[in-house]
Amino acid sequence: MDNSLKISEMRKSIGKSLLYTLPMFLITFIFITGGRPNFSDPSSGLAMLTVFLLVNVLYFFMHYTGKTDKYRAILFIIFALSLSYSLIHNMLEVRKSMSFSQADILECKIPFCHLVIPMMILPAAFTKSIIFPGSIIGGFANISSMIVLWLIATVVLGRGFCSWGCFYGGWDDGFSRIRKRPVIKKISELWKWMPFAVLIMVMLTAALSMMPTYCSWICPFKAVTEFEQVTSVESATKAGIFLSIFGGLVVVLPVMTRKRTQCSYLCPLGAINSLSNKITPFTVKIDKTACNECFKCVETCPLFALTREDIKEGKVSLFCSKCGKCVDACSRKAIHYGIRGIPAGTLKYFSRNLFLFVSFLFMSMFSAGSIINTFHGLLKLIF
Ligand code: SF4
Ligand code: SF4
Repeated sequence: MDNSLKISEMRKSIGKSLLYTLPMFLITFIFITGGRPNFSDPSSGLAMLTVFLLVNVLYFFMHYTGKTDKYRAILFIIFALSLSYSLIHNMLEVRKSMSFSQADILECKIPFCHLVIPMMILPAAFTKSIIFPGSIIGGFANISSMIVLWLIATVVLGRGFCSWGCFYGGWDDGFSRIRKRPVIKKISELWKWMPFAVLIMVMLTAALSMMPTYCSWICPFKAVTEFEQVTSVESATKAGIFLSIFGGLVVVLPVMTRKRTQCSYLCPLGAINSLSNKITPFTVKIDKTACNECFKCVETCPLFALTREDIKEGKVSLFCSKCGKCVDACSRKAIHYGIRGIPAGTLKYFSRNLFLFVSFLFMSMFSAGSIINTFHGLLKLIF
């Protein structure tokens, strides 16, 4: 191809990507600025502008390069880090400590987090009790808004929530990218059923004890958000468990395996989201006529969601989080985003564009507030 042809192709591709980005540009402008940009506080205005540009540049590059995962991961990882930073910052402002007491729980001074949802189900269904009321602290959502948002995102994205909506998934996603090659290559596939066992356990124990048992005893993200005051052997044991699970499943194993081990082996919400993959409009499809069974996609999946058998059968498992890593890895474009009811291999670009628009919009809406808070806080530290 001669140079002038190349330049004209590039211009066309830039123009097309800008056109795809325009709706995202307008929507994110409205929800980030509320429709009225206000630069009276320069650091807050600069934080908003930075996040607005970050979101739209990443979205533009998804269209321009045709690749999904690395641009998704940049925002996803920044989201997880920012959420922890701004949560800790707010906790320190509100109660001068990262730790909370039993009284804080009873007075609803703890922000509600989506990971609590699995243990709300049985108590809410059978006793009509809310065991973890939560409240709005410094802009963090309360129970009703969180459940509504999660429900909409889950029905639309299914387990895609785990790669496009989760507040914490960016932690193990980030650590799973540190090494180029895994040190541990083989892990039994049976472990991927573990989140279902954890889900059943936390639902039953929460219903029996009327306490959010996952939060109280297991959640690894207590290590990077708020945690119970260490005042007794019991609270010290809990702190030890949080730190060990965080160190093991969120840091060490993701680095050693290049897999998202916390999401794959522990998270009870991941189990519910996997089930909801059965009803969502968006899926990842395998076009058997284009696939040469090289299994590159299987190697690259960070969630143990794809096996050689799945490829041979031509369907992705219910554990798929729609991260796009396998789609990017396939040089034959045999594995692609699709829409339920439309056969594999057809309407690939339309399906991808629609899925990206919806899922990226969810991620931008969930993440923008905490990223702006964090940038704003950092700017105030610098200036
Ligand atoms: S990377 Fe593509 S061609 Fe290779 S097994 Fe996966 S879907 Fe088939
Ligand atoms: S199957 Fe593909 S899209 Fe689904 S989790 Fe694995 S790499 Fe991501």
